[in-house]
Amino acid sequence: MATSSPLTGGCHCGRVRFRIDAPLRAARSCHCSRCRKIFSGAGSAYAEIVPGSLVWTAGADERTIYSTTPGWGLAFCRTCGSTLCGLAGDEVHGVTLGSIDGDPGVQLEAHLFVGSKASWDHIGGDAPQYHEHAPARR
Ligand SMILES: [Zn+2]
Ligand SMILES: [Zn+2]
Repeated sequence: MATSSPLTGGCHCGRVRFRIDAPLRAARSCHCSRCRKIFSGAGSAYAEIVPGSLVWTAGADERTIYSTTPGWGLAFCRTCGSTLCGLAGDEVHGVTLGSIDGDPGVQLEAHLFVGSKASWDHIGGDAPQYHEHAPARR
């Protein structure tokens, strides 16, 4: 069911809100030990966005940026701790699927780093599972 209304999302406490004006792409879950810590769960559930399509509609200065590696960071709500988006430099690279309101319009297309997933993580669904990174796209 196609919809023309923009995607919206935000954190749990509602202080930080955003809108995304283009369909999400490349939705993936990474099960590596780093993503398990950062997302406090089985791994990430994350989709890349069309560059420039995310607009902060509330609480942009309520975010805290946690820089994991030089040039790469994750934005959290500093009050409730919800993980919101990944940043490449100053630009929003993608969003956590859990921060989107309702149906994000995409399905997970790959599970990454399944070779190092948690012992209690039993992945379901039809998306392909990769031991480490997914093969490069053509
Ligand atoms: Zn919050
Ligand atoms: Zn990972």
